[in-house]
Amino acid sequence: DLLIDQIAAGEVVERPASVVKELVENAVDAGARRIDVELEEGGIRLIRVRDDGCGIAAEELPLAVSRHATSKIASMDDLEAVATLGFRGEALPSIAAVSRFALTSRAAGAEHGARLEIDGGRAQPVVPHPHPFGTTIEVRELFYNVPARRRFLKAERTELGHIEDWLKSLALARPDVELRVAHNGRPTRHYRAAQDSAARLARAAEALGGEFGAACLAVSQTSSDDLRLSGWIGLPRASRSSPDQQYLFVNGRAVRDRTIGHAVRQAYADVLYHGRHPAYVLFLELDPRRVDVNVHPAKHEVRFRDGRRLHDFVYRTLQEALGAARA
Ligand code: ADP
Ligand code: MG
Repeated sequence: DLLIDQIAAGEVVERPASVVKELVENAVDAGARRIDVELEEGGIRLIRVRDDGCGIAAEELPLAVSRHATSKIASMDDLEAVATLGFRGEALPSIAAVSRFALTSRAAGAEHGARLEIDGGRAQPVVPHPHPFGTTIEVRELFYNVPARRRFLKAERTELGHIEDWLKSLALARPDVELRVAHNGRPTRHYRAAQDSAARLARAAEALGGEFGAACLAVSQTSSDDLRLSGWIGLPRASRSSPDQQYLFVNGRAVRDRTIGHAVRQAYADVLYHGRHPAYVLFLELDPRRVDVNVHPAKHEVRFRDGRRLHDFVYRTLQEALGAARA
């Protein structure tokens, strides 16, 4: 139902960056090793995301764009232990309801690709279309049929900034995936796939910029109950007057969390007597059953089943690492 999709779009699609997020997360969920993002006019005119992931079979294209159709959750058990980035099956129908949308894909092993175009929610028949293995989604003229929303979009630069900020966080979260970005026909970013820890740090340094790469401390710790914390925390000279360079990933998902944020700040202040905002890129991994990602549709927030325990683990790990570095 087009109206329902447009209403849902209000939640899922706020601006071009939200479209990029949904499409790139789908590419990651599809196992892509390489993702290309092409943008025009801050993504307002065009967002094209191409991946080399598992692809979608021609006969499943209509399903991929129908509401609450997800291939990622088969049962309530799965919902308890969400491991993929998407799971609601809302993104594609919502985006397709408020843009000129085209989905072209070729599933692994398929002889040729197929294409499905949707114009403001009106789907055309699926037609054969040449395509390498993987998927390309094109979103043109976002909100062309919802003028009230279109008016709320900001200047090209601002929208591009939101997109690049989000891509930065993905580049940090998934150093194993090559990511290329182009805007108005010119390459703007190229995050190369990083396999070893030196290449990972180089990629993090590229994303954060400034002094971070040269002024940070590597962290890596596993607890007896299988909590894992890794990443880098910036030393005081790489710290900032605002918390804009603080990245936390929980099981690969970018998250803002007060408990963990507090533990980091506390360890930093206790060991280094430093009140500014430490820059950091931290990865926390734990059994998905210990964390509820289903708190907010935008999924920036999570709820930990044992927040106290996590706080203590993060605090102690950083306190020891920073303490050793200071000694
Ligand atoms: P969700 O990601 O929550 O499952 P979406 O609306 O984002 O819902 O996508 C719907 C479905 O379309 C996915 O479950 C997946 O099966 C398929 N899909 C979307 N994008 C891709 C892609 N890039 N590669 C392979 N399959 C995809
Ligand atoms: Mg999705």
